[in-house]
Amino acid sequence: MLKQRCLTFAVLGLLFATASFALATDPVDVLIVDGQNNHKWADTSPVLQEMLEECDRFGTVDVATSPAKGEDMSGFRPTFADYGVVVMNYTGDSWPEATKADFEAFISGGGGLVVYHAADNAFPQWEAYNEMIAIGGWGGRNENSGPYLYWKDGETVRDMSPGRGGSHGPQNPYQVVTREPEHPIMKGLPPVTMHPADELYSQLRGPAKNVTILATAFADPAKSGSGRDEPVLMVIDYGEGRVFHTVLGHHVIQIQAVNFRATFLRGCEWAATGEVTLPCPEDYPGPDEPVIRE
Ligand code: ZN
Repeated sequence: MLKQRCLTFAVLGLLFATASFALATDPVDVLIVDGQNNHKWADTSPVLQEMLEECDRFGTVDVATSPAKGEDMSGFRPTFADYGVVVMNYTGDSWPEATKADFEAFISGGGGLVVYHAADNAFPQWEAYNEMIAIGGWGGRNENSGPYLYWKDGETVRDMSPGRGGSHGPQNPYQVVTREPEHPIMKGLPPVTMHPADELYSQLRGPAKNVTILATAFADPAKSGSGRDEPVLMVIDYGEGRVFHTVLGHHVIQIQAVNFRATFLRGCEWAATGEVTLPCPEDYPGPDEPVIRE
């Protein structure tokens, strides 16, 4: 009898453990938003979608494509709340007020957001969006948008000096240096990694509230850079929501870089769940040579 009861408890325990495990690692559903961009979104979105679909951590990966520039946007209203994380591959016309309200409610209510490359050019006038991305570029951004944000002498600097928001030199390879090695997205990754030739977004500025710089890259003045350690990977708290912002990945070749792929996938997982279970890939690059996996 005792033995049977123990067995029953053991089975119940196992069921409970299995249920907990399943809940903790339920596949994360993802929505990629595109349709307008000053970049080739129709080339990059399928690559992002495929890398998410190939990763067991993620479930359904849908794409919401907006009407083209200048066309009627009034019916564009994706159901953000159906997903664990939204990936923004969009910069273009304003969204309808109802869509913006849905988006704000989704993120502030605990949803995840991943801001990918030129998505931080979007919506210079939308206050909530600028708080979500922390810093952005172009679109008339200047000192009225908020401080420049960069890294100096081991600290985050907010610099209110006047000037344009957003610049980059020609594409060059550059090292990405981890600044928050204990953050779940960075934990276990090499501290310095070589990224393939890409734009290095510089002089971004914005509200810069509740933001943590995870990694920087030095914008070398000899290569038309700002001379600063510019933030390239960031996380932002927005209400109950989590935002991962990567400025990397101008086009397909850059998002096929192993370091882009790994930080993007880990960023998506973290934005959705607050945790990272995805391991560091074995071929993650060190400080000298980038690694591209097509
Ligand atoms: Zn670009």
